[in-house]
Amino acid sequence: MKQETMYAELLELITTDAASGKEAAIARRLAGKLEKLGFTVTADQAGETFGGECGNLLGVQEGTLDGALLLCSHMDRVPNGLGIRPVERDGILYSDGTTILAADDVSGICAIFEGLRRVLTSGKPLPRLEVYFTVGEESGLYGAKATDVSRFHARLGYIFDSPGRVGRFVTSAPGHYHLGAEITGLAAHAGNEPEKGIDAAKIMCDMLSSLKQGRLDAVTTANFPILSTGSTATNVVCDAAAFSGEARSRDPQRLADYVAYFEAHCQKVAEKCGAGLKLEKIESFLPFRIPEEDEVVQIAKAACASLGIPCSFESGGGGMDANIFNARGLTTIGVATGYTKNHTKSEQLVLEDFYRSGELAAALIETFAERCVAK
Ligand SMILES: [Zn+2]
Repeated sequence: MKQETMYAELLELITTDAASGKEAAIARRLAGKLEKLGFTVTADQAGETFGGECGNLLGVQEGTLDGALLLCSHMDRVPNGLGIRPVERDGILYSDGTTILAADDVSGICAIFEGLRRVLTSGKPLPRLEVYFTVGEESGLYGAKATDVSRFHARLGYIFDSPGRVGRFVTSAPGHYHLGAEITGLAAHAGNEPEKGIDAAKIMCDMLSSLKQGRLDAVTTANFPILSTGSTATNVVCDAAAFSGEARSRDPQRLADYVAYFEAHCQKVAEKCGAGLKLEKIESFLPFRIPEEDEVVQIAKAACASLGIPCSFESGGGGMDANIFNARGLTTIGVATGYTKNHTKSEQLVLEDFYRSGELAAALIETFAERCVAK
């Protein structure tokens, strides 16, 4: 059945233009909504770390119970998310096919608001609630990276930012490295004395053709799709070439091992050919895996059971704010809100799942509250 308040809020926020680094308009709306519910709202300086126009929003409401719970979503969306015209067909919301839908992550924001409205009107005792809306998630987890997690009282939380049916939780995700190599060769006339040159383009190809990549094992992958050379003429031996790509693994040791292998491999090939080499390795985010016995999973199970929602705890394929928070000691898992095919023009949201994700947000807060004691 249609839940008018959630549906109207969903359309309002989907049609509020936003992008990574351009979250000011949606942030203003969300701050207003939080204040209306009685939250104290502050913004940080996270936008400055990546050229964005505003920071992360933190809304806090003190409770009568000892304990604090974090509920988080991101305010930005992937590109092609401006001027969205949502279309509903048979209980599923789509864009008109020319843009994304931005259910990732507007549906997560709306689920949190519905959960808050429900628990605040229930009159039941509550813990301190910390609602966090981040910036720049899609373009590189910038808001999360700029977060000092010691500002939260919560030690655990739920990130409403995962695809799939309601009841799906993401309890592990891979870590990610950006890797690159710049090869310096030596220019020489290609016709007169090619033997005096050092061909950086060929060395790059040698490096790549003998580099282990693709599927490396069940939990580790690598991909190097970006290649370039400094050459603009065919009559000079190439003196500069570069390539870059990524490595991912759910296992932190295997990720570290691959990065070390990548460096050693490139150095060996460059040395053999007498070429110069500059390597680039940037840790984008670390993997996480939250065990089933962890409280954050147990609460999720109990909350789903109270609503009769079947639940599953699965691995996600990409990075999310939870990667950063977990690496910093704040235990968080992803919560699905009913969308699929996110980041594409075919993105869709199953409205029944979306409405239930609002009930789930309330049940997560209530189940957490039952474990707290009065102050
Ligand atoms: Zn997202």
